[in-house]
Amino acid sequence: MPLIVQKYGGTSVGNPERIKNVAARVARYRAQGDQIVVVVSAMSGVTDNLIKLAKEIMPLPSEREMDVLLATGEQTTIALTAMALHALGVDAISLTGAQAGIVTDGVHTKAKIQNITPKQVHALLTAGIVVIVAGFQGQTPEGQITTLGRGGSDLTAVALAAALKADLCQIYTDVDGVYTADPRIVPDARKLNEIAYDEMLELASLGAKVMQSRSVEFAKKFGVVFEVRSSLNDNPGTIVKEETQSMEDVVIRGVSLDKNQAKVTLVGVPDRPGVAARIFKALADAAMNVDMIVQNVSHGSGTPATDISFTVDKPDLLKATKVIEALKPEMGFREALSDEKIGKLSIVGVGMRSHSGVAAKMFETLAHEGINIDMISTSEIKISVVIDLAKGEKAMKAVHAAFVGT
Ligand code: ADP
Ligand code: ASP
Ligand code: MG
Repeated sequence: MPLIVQKYGGTSVGNPERIKNVAARVARYRAQGDQIVVVVSAMSGVTDNLIKLAKEIMPLPSEREMDVLLATGEQTTIALTAMALHALGVDAISLTGAQAGIVTDGVHTKAKIQNITPKQVHALLTAGIVVIVAGFQGQTPEGQITTLGRGGSDLTAVALAAALKADLCQIYTDVDGVYTADPRIVPDARKLNEIAYDEMLELASLGAKVMQSRSVEFAKKFGVVFEVRSSLNDNPGTIVKEETQSMEDVVIRGVSLDKNQAKVTLVGVPDRPGVAARIFKALADAAMNVDMIVQNVSHGSGTPATDISFTVDKPDLLKATKVIEALKPEMGFREALSDEKIGKLSIVGVGMRSHSGVAAKMFETLAHEGINIDMISTSEIKISVVIDLAKGEKAMKAVHAAFVGT
């Protein structure tokens, strides 16, 4: 009997009608005899609203309390989805992350899954019951509620699929699959039939929020093949899997734009060994993901100094600034500036390994549009540039047209 893990995102469970649609699809699979685990997100907008509420109480709330708050979003949906299945006469039960045996570390709001004990889930499935699991949440070994980072229901689904050795893992969302660019920004974007883990991972880390990047990392590590598809129709979606040779024939698989980055610049940092280590160790200790880093000679008088710029996720900016300000007396830099009006535009493709001239073509395309490049970073299969946020979408369309076509 096939075991299927199906994950439904926020829009797919966004109102009672949509939840009933999800239940109808699940009931259809169940009628074929499949064992089904359903992972659901909070209804669309709910997590954002909870965050907004918390910020109205205080700007930097305790992360433990944030997790207690945010976990309620998914808890609402599991119960409603179970009810919708009951209404169709399908035996179903809702489980929180903790009840489903999802154990995480204690890094609140960004917890990592340590292990999953799916004993109870297995027992319920064997008894013919559809199991509905709250996405995005888990519990520490000490019993504290944790969440897995924004978009974390994808991770719950992939991790459960691995733990349960599922035959299929389906990620249902509000678009037909993974596209060459966000179809809401680039109308010419095309749906991909397949994409390699590494490409999906880069696109996801670089702003394509169709999949949470950590879930793709997890899928790659445990070899979970999954399909991204629409909850609104029956069209085949995009298969995400190990790279195959023919994938290198395509130079650029996709283009992404991350509008959720901010840049911090430390001006006049004394130029001596150990300085960068001290800064980035402090940020790492605060569980902050630093991405691009650029160092320039500082143009000032006096002792040799440099300017160090780096990017962080926008929601982490306040926290990053606090960490940096705390270092000021010890490090003696002149000032810390922050800029939230940046966009990170990236092109991704495993074919870049075997094709040259890709960077030049990207930079020429941007130059032609009169768009200035602020920072650059590359890897074997991606090129990213930081540009003015206001020009982000225009740049994305131009670069997509240059590499993928119209
Ligand atoms: P869910 O709530 O189902 O998890 P998300 O909103 O997290 O859905 O992700 C789906 C959205 O991702 C789409 O509506 C789309 O606008 C966006 N997106 C960004 N980049 C891409 C891409 N390359 N392909 C498909 N969708 C993308
Ligand atoms: N509800 C959470 C979020 O909005 C998790 C998810 O939707 O995957 O980030
Ligand atoms: Mg999502």
